[in-house]
Formats: sequence, C-alpha cells, structure tokens
Amino acid sequence: MAKDTLSIEETCDMMIAVADKIIESEPILTDADRALGDGDHGVGMERGMNAVKDALADAKFPSVGKVFMGVGMAMMSSMGGASGAIYGTFFRSGGKALGDAEALDAAGVATFFKAGADNVMSRGGAKPGDKTMVDALVPAAEKAAEATGGSVSDALTAASNGAESGKEASKAMIATMGRAKTLGEKSVGLPDAGAVSVSIIVAKMADFAAS
Ligand code: ADP
Ligand code: MG
Repeated sequence: MAKDTLSIEETCDMMIAVADKIIESEPILTDADRALGDGDHGVGMERGMNAVKDALADAKFPSVGKVFMGVGMAMMSSMGGASGAIYGTFFRSGGKALGDAEALDAAGVATFFKAGADNVMSRGGAKPGDKTMVDALVPAAEKAAEATGGSVSDALTAASNGAESGKEASKAMIATMGRAKTLGEKSVGLPDAGAVSVSIIVAKMADFAAS
C-alpha cells in the first residue's frame, strides 16, 4: 500500500533499496559517463552505495534527516570525483533541512529536494541548463513542491517524474560544466551521467514509498 509517511526505519530501508538499485545499474552509469566523461561514474556510484549499505546496516538514527546525512557522508568519504562531493552535499544538506523530524512526509520531501538542489548549485556552481545532475535535481524539487498536499508516496512520485523529465531534457543541452564541457556541441543527444543516476535514485525512492 502506498505510504502516507515514512518512519526512520522505512527511510533507512528505502535508501538501502536505492543502494541495491544503483549497484545493479552500474553498467548503465558507466556507459553514460563513458559517452560524455571518463567512464568512472558507475564504479564510483557502486563504491559509494556499498559504503551507504555499510553505514545504514544495523545503525540507529534519531531522525529521518540523519539517515540522509549518513548517506551523504558515506558517499562523500568513499567515492571521490566530482559526484562524491556533489552527492555528499546533496544528501547532507537535504537531510539537515529536515531538522529533528521522526517521519518523512510530503512536505519533508519538498524541503529535502529544495535544500539539496540549492546547496549543490551554490557549492558546485552549476546552474540549470549546464547539463549536470542539477538538471534532474531542480525539476525534482519543483515537482515535489507542487505535491505537498498528499502522501509521501505522491510527493516522491512527483519528484521522480521531475527528475526523469529533467534527465530527458539534459539530452538536448550543451555541456558547460564538468568533464563533458570540452565536448561542446558533441555532447548534444545524450543525457548527463549524473542526471541518469539521480533519476534512478529518485525512481527507486518513489517505488519504495508506493509499495
Ligand atoms: P568525475 O566528473 O570526477 O569523473 P563522476 O563521473 O562520478 O565524476 O560524476 C560526473 C557527474 O557529476 C556529471 O555527470 C555531473 O552530473 C556531475 N557534476 C560534475 N560537476 C558538477 C557540478 N559542478 N555541479 C553539479 N554536478 C556536477
Ligand atoms: Mg566521471
């Protein structure tokens, strides 16, 4: 049954399910980054998500925000590369914005994505349209903000739809940040690797909340 809110334990289980999904998706992320970058995004994400599973297994967290902060810390300390720092910032600042909440609701989903996306932009310098994971994170935050009146499942589904359309829209963009920048117009036609990983992560979060 679609969930109205997620408890701390459910939030942990959701992120472990996300970790397994990303580990399984390593070849997709490798191919996406090989096309426009250096090909290490899949292996980096796999390493990061194994660290996330280690950090969340058997751990007790006092709030849902601390679960997301734990995800961010595990990714930041294990991955390296641009995406380790960017994802670390995203999950840590998104989690921090949730304060002491002991359940994740629709409004919390909106708060989480907005704070996460804003901090990624202010720390990493990318704006919408630069063909980075920002192009999936910002529409995820915007769609979540329109879905605060329903269940956590509705809000995560809205965020997932936003991330998916942002990832699709990134295909038409010319890269102006990160490694793909040197390709210029040759980057048109393929999605940004980080936008692909964001869309997989948010889709799995929505899946978990819907089931
Ligand atoms: P690296 O670029 O160090 O090889 P990864 O391959 O793991 O790291 O990650 C690449 C992804 O990181 C890109 O596809 C892009 O989405 C994201 N990225 C790179 N720089 C930035 C930035 N300044 N802001 C947001 N995302 C970024
Ligand atoms: Mg790379």
